[in-house]
Amino acid sequence: YDDRDGKIWLDGKLVEWREANVHILTHALHYASSVFEGERCYNGRIFKGMAHSERLRRSAELLDFEIPYTVDEIGAAKYAVLEANGWKDAYVRAIAWRGAGPDMGVASQRNPVRLAIAAWEWGSYYGDAKMKGAKLDIAKWKRPSPETAPSQAKAAGLYMICTMSKHAAEAKGCSDALMFDYRGYVAEATGANMFFVKDGEVHTPLADCFLNGITRQTVIGMLREKGLTVHERHIMPEELEGFEQCWLTGTAAEVTPVGQIGDYNFEVGALTRDIAESYEKLVRA
Ligand code: PMP
Repeated sequence: YDDRDGKIWLDGKLVEWREANVHILTHALHYASSVFEGERCYNGRIFKGMAHSERLRRSAELLDFEIPYTVDEIGAAKYAVLEANGWKDAYVRAIAWRGAGPDMGVASQRNPVRLAIAAWEWGSYYGDAKMKGAKLDIAKWKRPSPETAPSQAKAAGLYMICTMSKHAAEAKGCSDALMFDYRGYVAEATGANMFFVKDGEVHTPLADCFLNGITRQTVIGMLREKGLTVHERHIMPEELEGFEQCWLTGTAAEVTPVGQIGDYNFEVGALTRDIAESYEKLVRA
């Protein structure tokens, strides 16, 4: 994946794809001082691009560093990358990190803060599951308390437990894992938020120790506009049995129906399909 044609934006200019490298002593590689964004461009327009740029800067602040570019500059850089590669429909990855410098230990005040933006063509995140309903494992790793990690930051370090959970799930033939939080409540999947339906009402875990996804917020707004009741609350694992439908939301996942979590089954019902279609329309509107 590194040896290909294309352009990547790195620290203010477009560079060749295969030359977009960092040094082995990059602070982020050793200590996870890195934050990133995942965005989708639909027909030449990045959906909620501004909100993603703002979240990127906020994530960095939560990790105690400042990205040396404004929201507008980050926005322009994203479009420059898409244009340079000739893409109208693509996934956009912005990443900011503490680079290599005089600080080789945990502290890193003197090392430069760097920013890169890449894009690539990325279809359905869950493949077939998008139609049939994804099969989820239950992860053994728990989302940490907000007193343990900056849970509202989209920080690389928070993905270590996600990768391990997703690998374990895939080894069991599942496409993702549902993670509980440090208190035992239902939290989210490894890269997407979760919604449940019961008796015509929607329930979604309160985002008090994991990423309050931009897609999650968009879908809550859509549901309320349709006159549906949405409960953002703590959800116990025992409740999974009583839910009729379930779906995932995320920039990459978009709205993906869930057919199974562990031993519990869900139907890909009318509301799930309606929300998936409405979201697809909205991002291209
Ligand atoms: N949770 C995690 C852990 C994620 O990686 C993502 C994807 N960014 C989400 C939730 C959904 O966030 P968004 O809708 O902003 O993409």
